[in-house]
Amino acid sequence: MTNGFSFRILQRDGLARRGELTTPHGIVQTPVFMPVGTRGAVKAITQRDLEDLGAEMVLANTYHLYLRPGDGLVARAGGLHRFMAWKRPILTDSGGYQIFSLAATARIEDEGAEFRSHLDGSLHLLTPERAVDIQAQLGSDIAMVLDECVGPESRTSDPRQAMLRSIRWARRSRTRLQQMRDPAGRDAAVTITNPGQAQFGIIQGGTDLALRTESVQATVEMGFEAYAIGGLSVGEPVDVMYAVTGHTAAELPDDRPRYLMGTGMPDDLIECVARGVDMFDCVLPTRNARNGQLLTRFGPLAIKNARFAEDLSPPDPDCGCYTCRHFSRAYLRHLFLSGEMTAATLNTLHNLYFYLDTMRRIREAIGFGSFEKFRQEFQRTFSRRPQL
Ligand SMILES: [Zn+2]
Repeated sequence: MTNGFSFRILQRDGLARRGELTTPHGIVQTPVFMPVGTRGAVKAITQRDLEDLGAEMVLANTYHLYLRPGDGLVARAGGLHRFMAWKRPILTDSGGYQIFSLAATARIEDEGAEFRSHLDGSLHLLTPERAVDIQAQLGSDIAMVLDECVGPESRTSDPRQAMLRSIRWARRSRTRLQQMRDPAGRDAAVTITNPGQAQFGIIQGGTDLALRTESVQATVEMGFEAYAIGGLSVGEPVDVMYAVTGHTAAELPDDRPRYLMGTGMPDDLIECVARGVDMFDCVLPTRNARNGQLLTRFGPLAIKNARFAEDLSPPDPDCGCYTCRHFSRAYLRHLFLSGEMTAATLNTLHNLYFYLDTMRRIREAIGFGSFEKFRQEFQRTFSRRPQL
């Protein structure tokens, strides 16, 4: 497609696709799950752990890195890959989601989003152009456009107006990136640390299928390298999320990867792969690990539970992760209750292994043409409710 970025579908099984995403920092097997490294680190584990787990791509948050340490410093360090010593691909979000969810007094106008830093209260204006510039300095392999997120907790009352604004912002973002790709049109104040960076457009429209269709048509016309489905998993019922995902994925170009932002539970990954999604990210496995929740193929397991006090079996006897191969439920419970930092590390290693292993199994099943069987088996054993 562009500049070292391409996507190839290797196998199909129903609507599920197994593919290969080529980026300036290597090839990623899809469907892929990206662990979230908010501030340039996946909480509680090291980059070496991520490599050992087989993570092929991570996500980093533009909002956090822009505020601290600042994209200027990251650019002077040679870009985020060098700064955090991660050689594999990185995707950065635009910062919009955090402005809408974390920052105080966000004022959204056509120019951009004005917000106060959650760190020191300082006032900032993030425009679509600025979001492109910041991500160019960070040098991620995939940059996202700034969009206006609409969810049940959104400050915007009119999802159609927000969707239309996202389209206007997407156009400005695309124009800015195209100027950057032209050596004559470059802004000397912006250091491009990864010339092969791809840019994804984001489909909005809340849970209204007609708005989603309108958003797809206008956004695809702008010719992004690929497209994301945004504004879901923000409190809507899960069957609505599946319906909107299925509807939107079917309307997106077949030959481009489809990225469902911020989802979800392990069964969500499988259900959305079944609807044609190729890329996922979610804080759930890492955040829940730090809260003492281990995710297994039978469902979540709250490690602090008293019934594990003398349980010398591994968290999941079938899991091949470092934690399950070495430690018992009783030991992990003890670490968690004692407030040992190692508890977060070991729980995170397990949860990420489980997610990444589930993706490996999904890809394998698509390759063998047995994805539907895999999906049904997973549904039979997995429960969203804690294991008893
Ligand atoms: Zn494990």
